[in-house]
Amino acid sequence: MKRRPGFPVRLDTAAPAARVQAPLVKPQAAVRTAAVALQSPSGVGLDSSAVRARMVQKLAAQGLDDPIVLQAMGSVERHRFVDTALANQAYEDTSLPIGLGQTISKPNVVARMIALLRQAPAVVRGEPLGRVLEIGTGCGYQAAVLACVAREVYSVERLRGLHEKARENLRPLRLPNVHLILGDGMEGFARGAPYAGIIAAAGGEALPEAWLAQLAVGGRIVAPVARAQGQQSLVVVDRTPQGFVEQHLEAVLFVPLKSGLA
Ligand code: SAH
Repeated sequence: MKRRPGFPVRLDTAAPAARVQAPLVKPQAAVRTAAVALQSPSGVGLDSSAVRARMVQKLAAQGLDDPIVLQAMGSVERHRFVDTALANQAYEDTSLPIGLGQTISKPNVVARMIALLRQAPAVVRGEPLGRVLEIGTGCGYQAAVLACVAREVYSVERLRGLHEKARENLRPLRLPNVHLILGDGMEGFARGAPYAGIIAAAGGEALPEAWLAQLAVGGRIVAPVARAQGQQSLVVVDRTPQGFVEQHLEAVLFVPLKSGLA
């Protein structure tokens, strides 16, 4: 016997032919439902956790060994933060444009920076990661990953268009511990201070004074900072009871840290 399609209604093969011809849902309604399903991201197959699991495997193969960060990277749907036209590249290890000349960092850079944040002295001593300040909300992706690993996330963006885009992207995720702020992140965000961690997605000439002032003792800053010849490197600053301890790590490439709102 010819196999009947399961759509638009599941057919009861045992039922008499007359019943089969009377669909349980109106055909028009069924067609509309299908059209909606095809327009949603599920239509491109990216809501499958398998795609993210592969990305996580790659991160682990690249040496990322923090299980909490790997789990967070595996749970946030990166394709929901980029334009539909770029969604099929969302789980590749590449930075992507997010509008207004800005970019979302590569997954391995996001994961690396958050893993570094979790190596703050207080966290290494066994305290959970408390309040984190993110400079440069962009599309909101990194804020969502941070929300999985920190108690509270304050994320500041200077471009109104991106601040609003992030708000829209994050709304369906209903993350009560993420606070989005339109402001100049070079001033930090004093109301949320002191921070257990400060993470910057944009690089300046030096670390702004405000970040150092708003960092808790035992806390850590992870940020790109300019080096000679227009290059940038990742800088980690720990605030210890004895003072600030700075380490310069690998070369990175981030958009510039700019002052003022736009
Ligand atoms: N974490 C983001 C990456 C955004 S790119 C994400 O996951 O999408 C870096 C962002 O930093 C840009 O949106 C840029 O506008 C922003 N930025 C640059 N200087 C800033 C400043 N002084 N205050 C706040 N945001 C700033």
